[in-house]
This record gives sequence, structure tokens and C-alpha cells, in this order.
Amino acid sequence: MTPIEEWEALREAVEGMLKIAEAATPGEWFVSNANEGTEYLPLWTVINDAYLTPPGDDDEPWLAIELHTGFSEDTEYVAAHDPSWALSAHREALERLNRHVPYQSFLTGEWVCPNHRKLDLPWPCPEVSGLRSVYMKGEQT
Ligand SMILES: [Zn+2]
Repeated sequence: MTPIEEWEALREAVEGMLKIAEAATPGEWFVSNANEGTEYLPLWTVINDAYLTPPGDDDEPWLAIELHTGFSEDTEYVAAHDPSWALSAHREALERLNRHVPYQSFLTGEWVCPNHRKLDLPWPCPEVSGLRSVYMKGEQT
């Protein structure tokens, strides 16, 4: 894979996550303490508005978030990463990626990244490496 092909694969990965975030139900996710009255302790829950507002008909299915963990820290973490957070994080990642497009120096033949205070850095630059470790987990590079 050439650096520009790598860059395109990374952009596709970021765009894929962005599409998932765009398709998600908008709105906040909340931490809910579900410990009272349950025999399975501890029980922490992440829910959204849709969970709290079921349709009028009892038999009608509806889509909502209800996630259980045994750790309150995990519910706080998950609730903090709701669709609006994901949307802005992935949009920011895409903008960053678009500012760091590799090109091959015609003088040296090396692949470099521009846009670093007028300096070219060897490809992949630290900013792209950071995105790659987040979005390309488990993929061979
Ligand atoms: Zn760069």
C-alpha cells in the first residue's frame, strides 16, 4: 500500500464511523442508577430520552438505549460518548486528516506530510499516526 492509499483507507474508516454516528438517535445519553430493588448488584445503566418516553401502546416496540455495566465509571464514560460527541469527534478527525495529505517529494522520492509550520515531516506524521491508532485498530498497515 502506498502512503496515499493508506491515507484513503484511513479516510474511509473515519467516514464510516461518521456515518454510524449520523445514523444514531440524536440526543444525550444518561447515567441511571438501577441498583435499587435488584438482586444483581452493582448495576449501572446508560439510557437515552427514547428509553424514558415509550410510545403510548404497551405492545408497540420502540428503539432506545439501555446498557448495563457493573461499574459506574464505565456508564459515565459511555454516556459521555453519545452520538453528538461522536459526530463532533469524527468530523474533527476528518478535517484533521484533510489537512495532512501525504505527497511524494520529487527531489528525494520520500513520502512526506506538509502543513507542519512550513516543514515537511516524514510520513506518517504524528497527527496521522494518532488517527491511525484510533481508527485502524487490528488492521495491517
Ligand atoms: Zn501531517
